[in-house]
Amino acid sequence: MITKHASQHRDLCAVDTIPVAVAQRSILEATEAVTGADTVPVAAALHRALAEAVVSPLDVPAHTNAAVDGFAVRGSDLPREGTARLQIIGTALAGRPFPSPLGAGQAVRIMTGAPLPEGADTVLMQEQVLEKDGLIQIGAHHRRGENVRHAGEDIHRGETVLTAGKYLLPPDLGLLASLGVVEVSVTRRLRVGLLSSGDEILPPGSFHQTGKIYDSNRFSLRGAVTARLVAELVDHGIAPDDPATLKRTFQEMARRCDVILCSGGVSVGSADYTKEALAQLGSVEFWKVAIKPGRPLAFGRIGDCLFFGLPGNPVAVLVTFYQFVLPALFKRAGVRRPPLLPTFPARALEKLRKKPGRTEFQRGILERDEAGRWQVRTTGKQGSGILSSMSRGDCFIVLEHDRGPVEAGEWVEVLPFSALM
Ligand code: AMP
Ligand code: MG
Repeated sequence: MITKHASQHRDLCAVDTIPVAVAQRSILEATEAVTGADTVPVAAALHRALAEAVVSPLDVPAHTNAAVDGFAVRGSDLPREGTARLQIIGTALAGRPFPSPLGAGQAVRIMTGAPLPEGADTVLMQEQVLEKDGLIQIGAHHRRGENVRHAGEDIHRGETVLTAGKYLLPPDLGLLASLGVVEVSVTRRLRVGLLSSGDEILPPGSFHQTGKIYDSNRFSLRGAVTARLVAELVDHGIAPDDPATLKRTFQEMARRCDVILCSGGVSVGSADYTKEALAQLGSVEFWKVAIKPGRPLAFGRIGDCLFFGLPGNPVAVLVTFYQFVLPALFKRAGVRRPPLLPTFPARALEKLRKKPGRTEFQRGILERDEAGRWQVRTTGKQGSGILSSMSRGDCFIVLEHDRGPVEAGEWVEVLPFSALM
């Protein structure tokens, strides 16, 4: 009897619950990049999206140069058999080229990165020649052109090096600098509004009161946004469970923000007023997503502003942020190809409870076995309010929609926090 009831219940849930991938797709389809750009110094461009392609003003490398320390020679002086002797006529250092051309039978001592003297086309490794009395003796095993980096072999002048929408990471800043670029045009900063809702939520710093809890969601979200994007955060603090106040707050936030992140009040409890407050303001849908933690989720827009109503539970907030909000923030910020979120397999060190019909994000701690293979254990209790599980853990154990319970020793996919945060 219990079984029958349970399966009926599951069927009902399946009808109005949407899979994670469907929610992700709908959100991305409804998200557009903001317009407007800022010009910023290269040094301040980390985690921003290029608004315009960058074309190289230079050849890279700018000069044909030595790839190793050794001697610059003419290929025509290399012996086919036996040995040859060449006269050392000077030195070329990186930043201090040898000033005159190289004649037949001559060699120039050269350091890595130094431009090749005129006439030279080959660099012999220091270790592969015999040097004595101002001469080098070379064998027959060399090849014309060896150990030479050619001007423009990495990048040609006029070539597009970075395209519009590129999410700028550390090597991109180095690359821009290597071209002599000082400033770049990037999509303007997103304005992201933060709001915690709930009569029980107190700001840290206030006196603790029975029945109340300190706000954690605004702090997790602030960190989560700024770890990946340069954004202007518009912090609206805490709103009580009151439809009129929520409505006023949402209205004001929508005027100032590109995206609103509100937590709490999106389920169907008697103090969940987000829905009521939004009914007249915009087009917002309330979803039950087949995800744990994080089932209730509101998504839509108020005017041009995207609205995310995230669950109140502190772990659910982060799980839904990474699955639904962050991809949308990247797109809104003009990023064409957001960073990958790679998962990899690890062996479960313990039994994991899991019901088919929803994607679960349990928190895990990764380590390697003696053979170097990844294995994972949970952080312990997996309640969606147990925020310490996110701090103790270093990955999500991602259990697929259709999967049932996991036995110890089975393979599971893990998503390391270091890819997200
Ligand atoms: P709700 O979605 O409003 O029903 O909230 C679900 C749970 O999350 C409740 O236990 C809330 O007290 C808790 N919660 C809601 N907002 C926050 C917040 N900003 N910080 C910490 N816990 C919260
Ligand atoms: Mg609440």
